[in-house]
Amino acid sequence: VFAHLVRAPEDPILGVTVAYNKDPSPIKLNLGVGAYRTEEGKPLVLNVVRQAEQQLVNDRSRVKEYLPIVGLAEYNKLSAKLILGADRCISPLFYCLITHCMEYQDVRFKSPAIQENRVTTVQCLSGTGSLRVGGEFLARHYHQLTIYIPLPTWGNHPKIFTLAGLSVKTYRYYDPATRGLDFQGLLEDLSSAPSGAIVLLHACAHNPTGVDPTIQQWEQIRQLMRSKALLPFFDSAYQGFASGSLDADAQPVRMFVADGGECLVAQSYAKNMGLYGERVGALSIVCKSADVASRVESQLKLVIRPMYSSPPIHGASIVATILKDRNLYTEWTIELKAMADRIISMRQQLFDALRARGTPGDWSHIIKQIGMFTFTGLNSEQVAFMTREYHIYMTSDGRISMAGLSSRTVPHLADAIHAAVTS
Ligand code: PMP
Repeated sequence: VFAHLVRAPEDPILGVTVAYNKDPSPIKLNLGVGAYRTEEGKPLVLNVVRQAEQQLVNDRSRVKEYLPIVGLAEYNKLSAKLILGADRCISPLFYCLITHCMEYQDVRFKSPAIQENRVTTVQCLSGTGSLRVGGEFLARHYHQLTIYIPLPTWGNHPKIFTLAGLSVKTYRYYDPATRGLDFQGLLEDLSSAPSGAIVLLHACAHNPTGVDPTIQQWEQIRQLMRSKALLPFFDSAYQGFASGSLDADAQPVRMFVADGGECLVAQSYAKNMGLYGERVGALSIVCKSADVASRVESQLKLVIRPMYSSPPIHGASIVATILKDRNLYTEWTIELKAMADRIISMRQQLFDALRARGTPGDWSHIIKQIGMFTFTGLNSEQVAFMTREYHIYMTSDGRISMAGLSSRTVPHLADAIHAAVTS
């Protein structure tokens, strides 16, 4: 009965790894998939994760019963606090001013929304599952079915939201000429969006471009969106990975929450705790009142129950164990900063290597861009050349995962880029 099926294409990102695995070359390098690797090129399980797992194993009172539909209550609370903030409350404008002249780490928010019980948080299957549950909820219950996503964006976004039942449009984001933000284009496109439209925003470390708005630009985006009643849907897949500071990377989200308005936030612990395969994430919906939040939660349960019934217990227990323990939390922030710093150092080393080779072009975007990826500006023919001649694998849009590089492999990549742009 399935004989009529044609073979479906590989996923454009995961397909890179499939091709990499087939290549027998000893010098092959996979810069396609966004997963952290050590300087030795190995996947990393954080020390705090090992410690938390040990605690969980030692606790004989733990059982494997089903979680509730919305997941582990303690995990949900801690996740909301992590992204929305736990301390002082200040206005967005004042916030903008002080972040201009202070170290980010010194600025902490007390989220008014958490204080007022206006947030509902549900544990979901990593970032992807959180986006999908949020999309399905909006398609059922929100009056505007159009969602604007940045151009370009993570390749899964349009598919997730289309299948959820939303209509996907794009807003200008990246300017290939400057290899930076097309801020004017972004403002124009959001200005002409219909009132009430949903807008997907990368909270930090935009994937694939590595280009984020400045705090001042975020403030302008916030004012414009609030004036047009556009609904923000934040995708926070890299909190802590952009700057190395969890608070600094959450600033854009906190600015939108501090103004008292509504928003949705999808969180993932895949990257910042290295829990990729545990599939642990959360969807928070910030509402106007506690009463609305509890009704929203009741409807979210109706979305989740027929989809997967309830989420898995293990990953959420690891995260909760770390977030609620002061010592483990502090150790986590140190390990997270070390990952972020290694990526920043790879940027500098690649930039220096290209300069040393006299590679034509301005490569300063490599050190200006933020987070796990560099959007190199290499075109699909140059990418194909590098794969063919140098066994280097990346997505055809020229995006490379800096986390997959090491001091040992930087010269090989620099040689390949040099040859690709000069051949
Ligand atoms: N959003 C963005 C922007 C991402 O880059 C990713 C992972 N590549 C995700 C969401 C979701 O990842 P996961 O489902 O593994 O948490």
